[in-house]
Amino acid sequence: MKVKSALIMISGKLETAIPSDNHEIICCLKSTWDKLKRFSKTIDSSATIYIDELLNNCDAEKIIISQEMKEDAMHDLNRLKEEINNVYFCFKLYYGLVEDLLIYHRSDECCHLCEGQLNYYFNDVSNSVLKECATCGRLYDIDMRLVEFSEVGMLRPANRDELLINKIIK
Ligand SMILES: [Zn+2]
Repeated sequence: MKVKSALIMISGKLETAIPSDNHEIICCLKSTWDKLKRFSKTIDSSATIYIDELLNNCDAEKIIISQEMKEDAMHDLNRLKEEINNVYFCFKLYYGLVEDLLIYHRSDECCHLCEGQLNYYFNDVSNSVLKECATCGRLYDIDMRLVEFSEVGMLRPANRDELLINKIIK
């Protein structure tokens, strides 16, 4: 299958899956990624490894996909459909769509420096939740104090329990 027909096919599948529940969304992300991965490798190899890891390590039972996150993903998808002739940009949009669904973030806050989206991660050095600006990479703790890079170990997307304990979600 050619890359453009693959993109058209996956956009139809995502459109149906995004409004549904975690299991269906993740199942759809994995099956669409199966179709796109071989093209992605030649477009952006490091993004390919990153998306692979995100999808291999996500657990539908443990993550939060809020209504807001679904709306962000729908926005990415609509742009993807508009940009269907720009394959490179479509892949960037697809990577963003996967992140928007799998990494918790909210629209009522942003990076103090660049107003970028803040994605929630768990830092295994401090055993705490922190936020990373998706645009400039600045790190903040949950009270929006800056966190030094030296205080940070491996980051992985924060899960439901971690967000609950920190009262980020109810
Ligand atoms: Zn920023």
